[in-house]
Amino acid sequence: MIVGHGLAGAILAQTFAKHGINAHVVEANLPHHASPIAAGLVNPLIGPKLNPPFDFEKCLQEIHRLNDFFSRKFGESFYENLSLHRIFRNQEQANIWKSNPSKISHFYEKVEIVDSKETTMTAPFGIGITKCLRLRIQSFLEFSKHSLIESDHWIQGFHNYDTQGYDFIIFCEGFRSAQNPWFSYLPFAPVRGEILEIQKKLLFAASNGTWAIPQSSTSFLAGSTWDHSGLEKGPTSEGKKKILNDLDFLNLNSVEVLSHLSGVRNGTLDRNPIIGPHPENQKIFIFNGFGSRGATTIPLYAMKLVEFILGKSPLPEHLNPNRFES
Ligand SMILES: Cc1cc2nc3c(=O)[nH]c(=O)nc-3n(C[C@H](O)[C@H](O)[C@H](O)COP(=O)(O)OP(=O)(O)OC[C@H]3O[C@@H](n4cnc5c(N)ncnc54)[C@H](O)[C@@H]3O)c2cc1C
Repeated sequence: MIVGHGLAGAILAQTFAKHGINAHVVEANLPHHASPIAAGLVNPLIGPKLNPPFDFEKCLQEIHRLNDFFSRKFGESFYENLSLHRIFRNQEQANIWKSNPSKISHFYEKVEIVDSKETTMTAPFGIGITKCLRLRIQSFLEFSKHSLIESDHWIQGFHNYDTQGYDFIIFCEGFRSAQNPWFSYLPFAPVRGEILEIQKKLLFAASNGTWAIPQSSTSFLAGSTWDHSGLEKGPTSEGKKKILNDLDFLNLNSVEVLSHLSGVRNGTLDRNPIIGPHPENQKIFIFNGFGSRGATTIPLYAMKLVEFILGKSPLPEHLNPNRFES
């Protein structure tokens, strides 16, 4: 039994299915969750130093395997290729790009730095174009839900933490883990974020920390914000204003906002997800803490959890729920 059909619960259910195991999934459609609004970007270069995320090659390998499985099962692959125009924030970032380090250069779509005069954007330190991926999360969640309904493994409703009657129960509740009697002691660090859909055709994705990603032939998504307080208060007028201000590099003359949404990313204090059994009950698991990078990391960690439950391999120590004990 999997509790929660956000991105974590859905990818986990499909990873079990890939191994020939059909798990039941219970989902309550609670408000303020991240997956229904997330952009799904898989960004190869993160932070001020343009580093690849931890274990990124392994994450990509598992994403491609899962995407092949989706193609076979659903007739659709939900991870799509995208070009990302990275607006350098300072000369240091441009220098890192120019030095062509091998750990990042194979993600370059174009080696030369693009001069902003060749574009309509403001970018005094230039633009580096990288390959990236985008997971169409909401579309994937719909397909996953329908396949679970068809095979009679979907349970609509709130799970009340009764653990009787299941071989295993795996909690994938996003920020509601704070209310879970088994796992509320864990040091999660939830952060609220907002996202806008703006009426305007965008031909490519761009980011200077704030990102803009084509959504349809006439609109794009833009985000995001970071707010540790008032998790369930959004969306807010301040959030909208901040995103629109931060998009000034796009030089939009006027904007029409089509939608404005807010959701909570459930991060952790050490930025690693928390995955594994409860210390006192080996049939109760947590699979949570994917922060702002679930589209990158969840396929790899779902595979690791399934292999652990099948007795094939241990879970990495950096994911262990007990790692916070002193
Ligand atoms: C604005 C924004 C933009 C983002 N953009 C990106 C991005 O571009 N790329 C990226 O990789 N990540 C992005 N993220 C992060 C990404 O959304 C998360 O990493 C991921 O969606 C987390 O999924 P989850 O399933 O762990 O949690 P959630 O999405 O919170 O899902 C948990 C689910 O569990 C259900 N649930 C909880 N408790 C119960 C219960 N007791 N019974 C039944 N159901 C229950 C809820 O209804 C919910 O559906 C973004 C997040 C935000 C907020």
